[in-house]
Amino acid sequence: MNATMDVLVSLSKRRGFVFQSSEIYGGTGSCWDYGPLGVELKNNIKRVWWRDFVQARADMVGIDASILMHSTVWKASGHLDHFTDPMVDCRECKHRFRADHVNDLPWTHHCPATKGNKFTIPPGEPCGHCGQRRTLCPECGKGELTAPRQFNLMFKTFMGPVEEDAAVTYLRPETAQAMFVNFDNVLQSMRLKLPFGVAQAGRSFRNEITPGNFIFRTREFEQMEIEYFVNPHDRVDGRPADEYWHDRWIGDCMAWFQRYGLRDENLRLREHDKDELAHYAKRTVDIEYKFPIGWSELMGIANRTDFDLKQHSKWSGKSLTYFDEERKEHVVPYVVEPAAGVDRALLAFMADAYREEEVRGEKRVVLRFHPELAPLKVAVLPLLKKREDIVRVAQTIRADLARQWRVVYDDTAAIGRLYRRQDEVGTPYCVTVDVQTVGDAERGETGDQRVTIRERDSMEQIRVPVAELAAVFRELLGGVTWADLAPRYPPVRS
Ligand code: ATP
Repeated sequence: MNATMDVLVSLSKRRGFVFQSSEIYGGTGSCWDYGPLGVELKNNIKRVWWRDFVQARADMVGIDASILMHSTVWKASGHLDHFTDPMVDCRECKHRFRADHVNDLPWTHHCPATKGNKFTIPPGEPCGHCGQRRTLCPECGKGELTAPRQFNLMFKTFMGPVEEDAAVTYLRPETAQAMFVNFDNVLQSMRLKLPFGVAQAGRSFRNEITPGNFIFRTREFEQMEIEYFVNPHDRVDGRPADEYWHDRWIGDCMAWFQRYGLRDENLRLREHDKDELAHYAKRTVDIEYKFPIGWSELMGIANRTDFDLKQHSKWSGKSLTYFDEERKEHVVPYVVEPAAGVDRALLAFMADAYREEEVRGEKRVVLRFHPELAPLKVAVLPLLKKREDIVRVAQTIRADLARQWRVVYDDTAAIGRLYRRQDEVGTPYCVTVDVQTVGDAERGETGDQRVTIRERDSMEQIRVPVAELAAVFRELLGGVTWADLAPRYPPVRS
């Protein structure tokens, strides 16, 4: 079964992934807080992204820039003039919609053919009784909608104590601009040669007119963006370098999502039509994911040409060029931008990992997270919480493993229940300490000093010496599969 959004929202709240922001005050529209497991999952996503796209590559560096930037940045980037969505308002209930989203919403209809009965009709469909299509407000079904007006999505604020025009600044609506304005700083300080990329992960803010669908579209979110600069005069494999690298990045990003668990059938590429392209973009391709709300953008990969560097050079008066030693000339690099949303990636990883299975006649919910993404890596569970020696060994194991991974100890239920709890949050391995491990001191038995490891997906169990646990998990959490490792140890029949 594919997870519905309601199922994910409720699991997220119940198990500490995502909470409604300021819930005790009634919640803040479209703002969400990551709970104890959500923050681990989110950090893991950002960490593997950084490791794979920055740390592991010789042609990449990172920055972490300020959210508040000089206000001219947004003039130069085009955001002040063009970062707008057309909005319409209901004259009756004052509800505000994105003009281009109105037809995608279910609509409220007071049907004249049924004495004004109220119906909620699916998006785009006519009323089954009177045949009318929507003309009024989809929310209240009564008010007329205003003509579309452009609404800038940037959050405005003031720098310093005086609220005057000169102090106006904006919360960044994307992380990308900091890479452009720091182009020369990074180039000079790191002595880079084209092609090279600069990455950043951080918060962005957009005053979205119609946020919603849980963490899919929010007003405060995180992005992981890369600006990959190439020499437009270079050719790679007989093609212009920018086109070659654009395709390389599309392939690398797609492979990255597949590597961490998104299934092929839930991923696709969407090429932007010419009339949809931003005026500066040569080509843009979105990676779309089949979210519970349908196919939607997970990330975008755009060829932004030399637009941004030229704009910032024009507005700042500073040269933002690269000296091409071979051709003995200054060039303005082209840039390929892979831009992903952390929250959307998290939602996709969660939706894809969600399974409802039947195990011995009982329903089990399991999040089949890739081990590197799983918020908890190991849960250590004592089989008998009243036996002090068992509890002591279990807690020592937890403390030992926790020096390397997020590991929890839980003794608040019977073992079957504890396993289900860990399955539901995607913990790949459970370690159980039992009587056999510690033996019976009164009878002079020392125990076998082995524990049971249970794997989440197959539910198979093996018996492993306590002394080898850290080494075993180093393998299992470092890429060795269960199928390869398990045969080395005796199985346990459950
Ligand atoms: P959309 O068309 O969905 O509004 P966009 O094309 O404006 O997105 P970009 O500007 O390309 O988005 O931003 C890159 C990525 O940042 C998106 O693919 C998405 O993952 C994420 N993102 C953008 N806006 C939001 C938002 N309001 N909430 C959560 N994530 C977002």
